[in-house]
Amino acid sequence: MINLEPPKKAAALVNQAQQAAAEVFRPISRKYDRAEHAYPSELDMFAALLDGLNTSGEGGAGAAGVRRGEDDGRSNGNRNGGNLSTVLGTIEMCWGDVALLLSMPRQGLGNAAIASVANDEQLKKFAGVWAAMAITEPGCGSDSAAITATAELDGDHYVLNGEKIFVTAGQRADAVVVWASLDRSKGRAAIKSFVVEKGTPGFEVVRLEHKLGIRASDTAVLRFENCRVPKENLLGTPEIDTKKGFAGVMQTFDNTRPLVAAMAVGVARAALEETRRILEEAGVTIDYDRPANTQHAAAAAFLQLEADYEAAYLLTLESAWMADNRKPNSLQASMAKAKAGRSVVDITLRCVELAGTLGYTEELLLEKWSRDSKILDIFEGTQQIQQLIVARRLLGKTSAELK
Ligand SMILES: Cc1cc2nc3c(=O)[nH]c(=O)nc-3n(C[C@H](O)[C@H](O)[C@H](O)COP(=O)(O)OP(=O)(O)OC[C@H]3O[C@@H](n4cnc5c(N)ncnc54)[C@H](O)[C@@H]3O)c2cc1C
Repeated sequence: MINLEPPKKAAALVNQAQQAAAEVFRPISRKYDRAEHAYPSELDMFAALLDGLNTSGEGGAGAAGVRRGEDDGRSNGNRNGGNLSTVLGTIEMCWGDVALLLSMPRQGLGNAAIASVANDEQLKKFAGVWAAMAITEPGCGSDSAAITATAELDGDHYVLNGEKIFVTAGQRADAVVVWASLDRSKGRAAIKSFVVEKGTPGFEVVRLEHKLGIRASDTAVLRFENCRVPKENLLGTPEIDTKKGFAGVMQTFDNTRPLVAAMAVGVARAALEETRRILEEAGVTIDYDRPANTQHAAAAAFLQLEADYEAAYLLTLESAWMADNRKPNSLQASMAKAKAGRSVVDITLRCVELAGTLGYTEELLLEKWSRDSKILDIFEGTQQIQQLIVARRLLGKTSAELK
């Protein structure tokens, strides 16, 4: 029988993450939504605690790195490892506040990239470094193969040139994982990722964006001008294998998309719980033993939203579980991201509606969650791009055959 309960060994982590979300994130959620660009200093102490958790091997409670499970020879055919724990922790934390999770020191999407593709030496070198991820450029978003930033080998260094936009934690992080091409004439296979540390000459934070949601998270424009990066900061292999395409850097997405899906699941759950409370206070009963069409319209709507939430949640767990069990999960990661991204937007907006005028005011966090949710259906690949990937995988088409 399929057991859809989270594994028992993750219970302590989930419990801790839930407590932190309720006691650290929620109380400061509105404050930093209003104080856009102010660093939430309350996170420092908490980040130190989380570092302890990560190094103790209990798994991350945030957007920590995820790595394909290594075979320890003790497998009984079903492993619940770091990916699942990280996803479960992320859900809890984002129930508290997704923008604050994105602002957590050392829990950046760049960290997930390092964890997925770095070699052992690099893992050691970048341990404890907070890393953002810079792919998007003024002329390149969804089509990451169109990257124009370049990295040219010069002695022991790569020389980086280009501009990156919309980089989450781009100002606050200690380093940025930058996608750049080794040779633009060789197409996507030449795109590699480089860890560029803050303070490297030629690396400049140009400005910060003002945004619809996730305002506690800084979003930066970065410029690289003849920026010299040590050769050993290239993640993965420097070889340009035109047969393999850009499988190396793209592999990162198999690990980061379940995390973004988990963020969406956390925000959706927060909105559903708040709405349930409001409906119950208003005397609306949600009854699981009666058909939806025989219930109050608000209860019927709620049941439908909950069904979407459950589907998103289960797809998210599946994609992380597959990574833990070393099964290729690109399809499931995109399915989870597509379902969770769309559902969180639908759920949070519908919850604003179900709560009536109260839902639209700053008295509750419902309106904030409806603003925060949209990005979860955009970054790490938009809704349309996830659907395209799913279609390609199911139909067995290449990216050239189905665009
Ligand atoms: C707050 C925020 C934080 C971000 N953080 C980061 C970050 O940390 N690092 C980073 O690198 N980037 C980041 N991004 C950028 C984000 O990843 C891109 O916005 C996203 O990939 C989409 O790219 P684009 O905006 O250029 O849109 P485009 O690619 O121009 O797409 C515009 C629209 O067209 C659709 N579309 C595009 N191609 C197709 C197609 N083939 N078929 C159907 N529809 C298509 C898209 O889905 C979208 O709706 C962030 C963005 C925001 C808003």
